[in-house]
Amino acid sequence: MLKFVVGGAALAAVSAAATVVLAQGAAPRPIYDPSAPPATSDLTPLVVHQVKPGLYMLVGDGGNATIRVADDGVILVDTKLTGDNYYQELMQKIQSVSDKPIKYVFVTHVHNDHSGNTPQFEAAGIPVIASDDYKALVATYTVRPGQMRSPAPTVSFAKTYTVKLKGATATAYALHAAHTASDSIVYFPDEKVVAMGDNMFSGAPTVDWLNGGRLLGLQKNWVKLEKLDFDTLIPGHGATPISRAEFEADRKKLDLLIERLRAAIKAGVPKSELLATVKVDDLGPGWSIKDQHTEWSRPARLDGLYAELSK
Ligand SMILES: [Zn+2]
Repeated sequence: MLKFVVGGAALAAVSAAATVVLAQGAAPRPIYDPSAPPATSDLTPLVVHQVKPGLYMLVGDGGNATIRVADDGVILVDTKLTGDNYYQELMQKIQSVSDKPIKYVFVTHVHNDHSGNTPQFEAAGIPVIASDDYKALVATYTVRPGQMRSPAPTVSFAKTYTVKLKGATATAYALHAAHTASDSIVYFPDEKVVAMGDNMFSGAPTVDWLNGGRLLGLQKNWVKLEKLDFDTLIPGHGATPISRAEFEADRKKLDLLIERLRAAIKAGVPKSELLATVKVDDLGPGWSIKDQHTEWSRPARLDGLYAELSK
């Protein structure tokens, strides 16, 4: 997996080539479990990791966020879980790497652990940018108990949306419905980094069928992603960035998983036995959809999975 250089002043002296080091070996990637109560499970305190010069990944307090620091401001992708405590922590971490103002906020999808603090940014007059699909879904999506519905974005786009600051460009791409029906990614071409939202996890991705997600949409999005010139992906969950090589490996795993799920359904495996029947132990850490990824076995998701792959 990719390793970070974590630290303060010394970072300035580290060259671009050295900031991201491809480590040998396949250490297990952490598994994110969004079904667990926020205060007790995967929600580690917020930590900033430098991924490239001027580009940081914020892990903890919900889904991963990305910060791009330009000479005249900051671009933020995703806003952590709702709550003033989370918002304050997020702001503190951003200010720990840049004293420049936040100029743009992108939101990758409607889920509360990514869109949670958009109201504060909107109230501060900062454009909150998301896809037209997000704008449509955010008004109607199924909010989990205890979570809050996020507001409409201030700016929405049909296909792509680019913002430029001094020395930094970010382009958002609207995606096929995949993790949800509101997905987009944000590409930083001069850093060759893509902030993936939940179109990429550490390990098997999950799909929210109830909110319009489609596993085959994810497969299509990953095919399109190949066309971007990137070397690093920031996953929506998981403690480290993902290299291009890891992405290529994950793409093969996803294709294989879909093929096996389809074959099992075609062979008449009932829904209740699907996850337990499909072979995943050869796909590596994080791909055990039967026991580690409880998201896969939520009834609404299992229904969606079965229905989609039965066609
Ligand atoms: Zn999500």
